[in-house]
Amino acid sequence: MMDLSRTVYLNGEFLPAGEAKVSVLDRGFLFGDGVYEVIPVYGGRLFRLDPHLARLDHSLEGIRLANPLDHPAWRRVLERLVEANGGGDQSIYLQVTRGVAARDHGFPQDAEPTVVAMSNPLPAPAVHREGVEAITVEDIRWHYRHIKAITLLPNVLLRQQALEMGAAEAILLHDGQATEGAASNLFVVRGGVVTTPPKGNLLLPGITRDLVVELCRDHGLPFEEAPVYEADLREAEEVWLTSSTKEVVPVTRIDGAPVGDGRPGPLWGRVSDRFRAYKEAFSHGEVD
Ligand code: PMP
Repeated sequence: MMDLSRTVYLNGEFLPAGEAKVSVLDRGFLFGDGVYEVIPVYGGRLFRLDPHLARLDHSLEGIRLANPLDHPAWRRVLERLVEANGGGDQSIYLQVTRGVAARDHGFPQDAEPTVVAMSNPLPAPAVHREGVEAITVEDIRWHYRHIKAITLLPNVLLRQQALEMGAAEAILLHDGQATEGAASNLFVVRGGVVTTPPKGNLLLPGITRDLVVELCRDHGLPFEEAPVYEADLREAEEVWLTSSTKEVVPVTRIDGAPVGDGRPGPLWGRVSDRFRAYKEAFSHGEVD
């Protein structure tokens, strides 16, 4: 249960969560007509805020909705929200919907977007001695997977299927390619080369994905962006999943079969150490 005294931002106001209410006519509620972001906060600082706001712009363009706030205004709102919720480590969720209007599929002419931002506790990431299990599933989502839309029912169903099979994540297959997880991006190691599928409309351009790519490049690890076919996934030496809240997670079993030797791999160890070092430096204000 969410702590209802945490501060929420709703359409220009900062309110206790228990008092922040949205109309039943909101198009987010009726149609899932909106987009969102999840931004980690370390040491009271918003991690990778600019790329998150750039992705928000792209998602809004994708649904043809003007951004109700410019970047400096978003920064002011989110910084105040972080402070109101005690600084430190948190996870910020923000959502913009097409607003409140009589229920009709076509865009309303005069609706104001609904803007919500809230803070959730950010649990310390798991220590991965064993790694996690994943299953593979056919991707049943729509064709605009690069838009971070709140319309997440397929992702919810696929993640739940994984959980009910004792796995942590569902890896999505589209036309024989493994593209990403239900709520994470995918990396595999093949022949010692770190590989992640290229951006495009098959997957969400993850902010953590981009940081992992940057860390691989900066530290001279062999890296490429290339399609990952199902056979590559099943024969990979290592498989990782990345997301803002889970960071870099080693997958050690897929559909019941071990990945590599069934232990988190050495390249995962190097990348996740570098990720943590970067995050530490960020939370102490040493890097942007
Ligand atoms: N793919 C999907 C489908 C996601 O929902 C997410 C985030 N929850 C990601 C990838 C990872 O993105 P990020 O690193 O920006 O959290």
